Amino acid sequence: MAELLIAAENIVTAAPPTSRDLPTSRDPATPPVPDVLSPGYVLVENGWITAVGEGEPPRTPDEYLDHGVLTPGFVDLQVNGYYGVEFEAVDEADWQMVADRLPETGTTSFVPTFITAPLPQLTDALKAAARLIEQLAPTEPATTEPAPTEPATPGAPPRSTIPRPARILGVHVEGPFINPVRGGAHNQDWMTDPTPEAVGALLDAAQGHLTIMTLAPERPGALAAIRHLSQSGTLVSVGHSDARASQVAEAAEAGARMVTHLFNGQRPLHHREPGVVGQALADPRLTSGLIADFSHVAAPVTAIAFAAAPGRIVLVTDAAACAGMPPGEYLLGGQPIELPPGDGVPPVRPDGTLAGSALRMDVAVSNMVSVGVSLPAAVAAATRIPADLIGRPDLGRIAPGARADLTWLGAGLRAEATWLAGQRLHQKSPKGQQGQEEAS
Ligand SMILES: [Zn+2]
Repeated sequence: MAELLIAAENIVTAAPPTSRDLPTSRDPATPPVPDVLSPGYVLVENGWITAVGEGEPPRTPDEYLDHGVLTPGFVDLQVNGYYGVEFEAVDEADWQMVADRLPETGTTSFVPTFITAPLPQLTDALKAAARLIEQLAPTEPATTEPAPTEPATPGAPPRSTIPRPARILGVHVEGPFINPVRGGAHNQDWMTDPTPEAVGALLDAAQGHLTIMTLAPERPGALAAIRHLSQSGTLVSVGHSDARASQVAEAAEAGARMVTHLFNGQRPLHHREPGVVGQALADPRLTSGLIADFSHVAAPVTAIAFAAAPGRIVLVTDAAACAGMPPGEYLLGGQPIELPPGDGVPPVRPDGTLAGSALRMDVAVSNMVSVGVSLPAAVAAATRIPADLIGRPDLGRIAPGARADLTWLGAGLRAEATWLAGQRLHQKSPKGQQGQEEAS
C-alpha cells in the first residue's frame, strides 16, 4: 500500500468540530481533530488521510515541513479561467493545462465558471464540459482500502508517478437568469428569465455536472427555478441581483444556499432595506462568496463580512483568463477584457467595469489574515466551508477519512507545494522561481 507520513511544524486542519460527517472514516468514534497542530503529522494511505496527530510522528516522516503551515488543498467555487484560458470555450488541452497548473496556487479542486451567454451556446458549452469532466477525472480508489493490484503494462510508468491534475467539481453557471441593473461585466442582451424550459435545457446539457447556478431571484419564474435546481442537486446562489432582503429570504426558503461574490453585482446594505448584502450576512441559511483581492471589496469591508457571518464566507477567486498572466488583452464570456499593469489589479471591460480577477487563492487567504482574520478561519473559508457547501465532505479538511489533498503555505503564506490524493505535485524552487512539476 502506498503510504506517506508528513510531519509539519504547523498544521491548520480546517476539520469540523466532529468527524462524523466524514464518509469513509474507518472509526465512527474517531475523536474530533483540533483546528491547529503545532507540530503535527498526517498519515496518508492509498490517497486518503488515515491518521492525524499532534506532536512527534510515530516514525521517521517521509516529508518534514520545517516552516510555514500545512493546510487542506483549496477549493475554488468560482473560477472563469486562468493562465490565458477561458473555461467557457471548453477546450480539452486548455482545461488539462489549467488543472495541471492550478495547484501552483494552492488550489486542488475547482468549479469552472461560465458567465452569461446565449442559451444555445451555454447548453453546447455544458454538454462539452460534461464530457470533458468525465474524461479528465482521475481514476482513484473510492475508499481508504487498497485498490486491487493492477496487471503491469510493459513500458508504462507506475500509476502512482503520473502527476494528478486538480479536481474539476462540475460547472458553475453564472447567468443568464440575472438582472441587467446589477449585470456587471455580463452582456445584458443575453440575460433572460428562468423558464422551466430554459432551466431544463441547462440541467439536461450538464448531465449532473451543474454544480452551482447563480441567478437573480427577482426575475419572473425564479422561485420555481430555484426549487427545481435545488431538487436536482444544483446549489443555487443569489447573484447579479437587485432583490430586496425579503426576496432573498424567499429565495432561501425555496432552496438557495449561497450568495455570489458578496457586495459585487447586488443591491447593497441600507439600514432600512438590507438588500442582498444585508440578508446574506444575517440569514444563517446563506453562505457568501467573497473576492478578497481588496479591489472588488475594500480591505476593511472583507473583515466586516467575516465578523458578521462567521463560518458563512467562502473565498473565491472569480479569476479570469488573465490570472497568472502578464498585463494585456484577454477574454471573459467571449468578450474582451484588459488586465492593466500593477500588482493585484483586476481586469476590466473597455468601459472600466470590473471583469473577474487575477487573484490567487493563497493570496486571498493571506489578505484575510492581513486584516485580522485568524489563519484557521481564513483557511476554512478556502477549504472546508466551500467543500461542505457543494456536498463534498471528503474534501477541504485534514482529518481521517478525507482525501489527501494538501497545500503547504510557506513565506508570506504562498503555496510552496501541494499534494493531490497524497501525491506531491508542485514545489516552488528555493530561489522563488517558476514552479516546477515534481512527482514523488
Ligand atoms: Zn459575477
